[in-house]
Amino acid sequence: MDDTPLNVSLLGDMLRRRHYEVLEANDGYQALEIVAQRSPELILLDINMPMMSGYEVCQRLKADPQTKDIPVIFISALNDVQDIVKAFEVGGVDYIVKPFQVREVMARVDGQLTIYRQRREIDTLRQREVQQYALLDELRRQFIGSATHDLKNPLALINGYVYLLETHPKIQDDAEIQGYLETIKRASRKMGHLVGDMLDLLKMEVGITLEISEFDLSALVRQQASDQELAARDKQQRYTVIVPDQPIMLQADANRLSRVVDNLVSNAIKYTRRGGEVSVALSLMDGQAVLEVRDNGLGIPTEALDRLFEPFYRVNTIEHRAVEGTGLGLSIVKSIVEAHGGSIEVESQLGQGSTFRVFLPLKTTQAGTA
Ligand code: ADP
Repeated sequence: MDDTPLNVSLLGDMLRRRHYEVLEANDGYQALEIVAQRSPELILLDINMPMMSGYEVCQRLKADPQTKDIPVIFISALNDVQDIVKAFEVGGVDYIVKPFQVREVMARVDGQLTIYRQRREIDTLRQREVQQYALLDELRRQFIGSATHDLKNPLALINGYVYLLETHPKIQDDAEIQGYLETIKRASRKMGHLVGDMLDLLKMEVGITLEISEFDLSALVRQQASDQELAARDKQQRYTVIVPDQPIMLQADANRLSRVVDNLVSNAIKYTRRGGEVSVALSLMDGQAVLEVRDNGLGIPTEALDRLFEPFYRVNTIEHRAVEGTGLGLSIVKSIVEAHGGSIEVESQLGQGSTFRVFLPLKTTQAGTA
């Protein structure tokens, strides 16, 4: 594009001789129209033109998502630094000075076209990869969904028959067989947890629909914490629960928040040694409810803290591994908390203990998908 017809035909002929298809324009408006209609792969743009300067044409091209990626090489008779700097500032990729040197023009045009074409190829490949990833992800979801769902029935069947065997008169007093049945029950319970957690995680991934009702968070935490007291007592742990006497009214998904409390407290008990300490505290701070679950148990190594909320992540020490778990609980907890507009944080030192804090806004949580 150049307002001097001679320049246009000179450059045009030069390029046509190299088998490029060339579209010509003599002013900015015409150039923008041609670009919009034909989407060229490269634009050679004169800077000094009446009506609309080359800079302005370039700025308009760069502002339009349809044309912003087309490389622009500026052409000018002026060889001054100001010009060059501005050409790059408005989005030009290169600069040619008149009068043209054929070989220089060709080298610059070829170079920019190669870059442009390679970039487009990369974009296409990337898009294809994104599509393939989405497809695989969908397949993964469907697979986990149907596999875990299909495991529920056989599990229920196993549990049912274990119960029949346990209470069967012929083996009721047989300690050896009762021992085997205990092992089957333990394994099936573990599998049940995994199936349940995986189904929950899947639900979170596709976006959970919160079932909102108004309830007292103090009562909920008190109840969930007391449900775990027996487990703590079994391990002779000192178990403290501090919940305000007055209600903390919340509009939220009570079942799911019960799951949060349950998970954090049972983790604290699980990952704390016999005779250790676990405490649960609920308080109000800056318009938020803060749930703090603290223990002086195994703790978490610093390098594991970043990955703790990832699905299936488990801390890899012998003592942590010895505790039964799926590695899904905390990722579910995080999804639930975030679906309520809240956040979760953890402070921990290996061998010293851990503190998990959940912050929940007290403002009305909107029902819906998160
Ligand atoms: P899991 O089913 O394995 O307990 P979670 O997702 O609840 O899965 O926790 C992920 C991992 O984080 C656990 O496997 C454990 O290694 C570590 N972890 C969680 N809570 C604690 C805690 N209170 N103390 C020490 N480690 C913990």
